[in-house]
Amino acid sequence: MNEDIAKHPPDQLFQLVTDRWTSPFWDATQQHRLTAACCADCKTFRMPPTPFCPNCLSQKIDWPTLSGVGEIYSYTIVSKAIFPEMESSLPYVPCLITLPDADNIRLISNIVDVPVNRIAIGLSVKVVWANMPDGSVVPRFTLRNL
Ligand SMILES: [Zn+2]
Repeated sequence: MNEDIAKHPPDQLFQLVTDRWTSPFWDATQQHRLTAACCADCKTFRMPPTPFCPNCLSQKIDWPTLSGVGEIYSYTIVSKAIFPEMESSLPYVPCLITLPDADNIRLISNIVDVPVNRIAIGLSVKVVWANMPDGSVVPRFTLRNL
């Protein structure tokens, strides 16, 4: 069994690029608030945020605060460095997290700070916040029950 603790890619390699559709998400992370684009007319969530609601084509968007609790939909354990700067970050665990309080939309993230052999599809996770060198704040996830 692999008892290694799940790490994350090097923070210094992170570079945030936003636009008018994604900046509300990243503004909320500055306040340690997880959010997602939600149609202000029909209440359908969407991820990533897009100009039009896929359900009713409205352009009105709300950004409600979510609980930060999710469920592991899928993940992979990266145990080989694709370039030398990644060597000290192994293993890390890219994942897709389902957000039940947002119509089960899925967020791409990383699972961190737990033994990789405890990670499984369907487990409950909660958001943790990581401060990046560029001043942005990134949501990652860890298991709720170890
Ligand atoms: Zn809509």
